[in-house]
Amino acid sequence: MSITPLMPVYPRCGVRPVRGEHCHLIDEDGTRYLDFASGIAVNLLGHSHEGLIRAIQEQAATLMHVSNLYGSPQGEALAQQLVDNTFGDTAFFCNSGAEAVETAIKTARAYHQHEGGDENRTELITFANAFHGRTMATISASNQTKMHKGFRPLLRGFMYSEFDDLDAVKELINERTAGFLVEPIQGEGGIRPASQEFMTGLRALADEHDLMLVLDEVQCGVARTGKLYAHEHYGIEPDILATAKGIGGGFPLGACIATEKAARGMGFGTHGSTYGGNPLAMAAGKAVLDTVANEEFLAEVTEKGERIRTRLEQFIGNYPDLFELVRGKGLMLGIKMKVESRPFFVHLRDNHQLLMVAAGDQTLRVLPPLVIGDAEIEEFFDKLSAGAASYAIPEAA
Ligand SMILES: *Cc1c(COP(=O)(O)O)cnc(C)c1O
Repeated sequence: MSITPLMPVYPRCGVRPVRGEHCHLIDEDGTRYLDFASGIAVNLLGHSHEGLIRAIQEQAATLMHVSNLYGSPQGEALAQQLVDNTFGDTAFFCNSGAEAVETAIKTARAYHQHEGGDENRTELITFANAFHGRTMATISASNQTKMHKGFRPLLRGFMYSEFDDLDAVKELINERTAGFLVEPIQGEGGIRPASQEFMTGLRALADEHDLMLVLDEVQCGVARTGKLYAHEHYGIEPDILATAKGIGGGFPLGACIATEKAARGMGFGTHGSTYGGNPLAMAAGKAVLDTVANEEFLAEVTEKGERIRTRLEQFIGNYPDLFELVRGKGLMLGIKMKVESRPFFVHLRDNHQLLMVAAGDQTLRVLPPLVIGDAEIEEFFDKLSAGAASYAIPEAA
């Protein structure tokens, strides 16, 4: 037998974390890494946040799981918290980003297939280099063929447009169009924020043609950009939004948030999840939102983000052969490189104990826990500077 017991779908690296302390991860052999990846924008509160730990411990000792056949005081409370803090009127809880996007896709389709709607409107326009997850629907929603390989047939009902190109979108709209599914800031695609005109334009097109504006804020949502949700930067509201990653602070939790109008097709029996909304996940979500969903916390994220961005912009000027520009919002930043970002991120990890994540478009992602302090910011720049100074650009293959 040559297959590993852990199905070999990830090319895992040699770092094997066994413990987390605030913004650091500690490896099996005791090596300490500065974590500027946060489990890919998940560990908003770092790794040993007392409030989050206590909430999960207390809930685990009280009640871990009950069926959605019963009333859910915990789910009602967290849904109310999301409704109070967002555009939405209602929330469905699930366990991951892909499930949240799946729910969002179903909600958009059901809006049109609801009584009185136009059941021919079944297609969502999605965008080049998007990432929406790894289920069949969410890979079908992305034009990235590397995720399709081996898994055909794809699900029908997705039309791919260029990202940030309103004219391309207009050309695709027809009588089958149900709506748009878009990341306001593309994450895996390379930390690429949509322009103001694009987001305003999508909202206007949705209003004009009775389409659903569905936002995938799985990576950019939950205070990451200095707003609770990134669309707030653009002064627009979606009809439907998928959230996950940071919302559980490390505990698996996702949600699909929608307006009352957009959710008109999601009545009794239309959708479900055995674990979705279980009390343990609700306790984690509440602990996270209690911490991040307030002006003081969001202002701190904005301030730290601006400080890091300004310093990064100065720093990259010292290495014009390596770095091109910095983009993103808040603490969701990307350094676009002039060379492949992956080997550089490996160098930072293995030689300087700095954990970051590579992304598309030769980008290095800067995704620290939102609770970083001055000491971690200094350590980050020390490691990054040392890493850039010691880096030998590999020969092109
Ligand atoms: C990570 C991600 C997903 C998928 O989330 P999972 O929890 O891995 O299913 C979907 N959309 C975006 C934008 C993401 O970054």
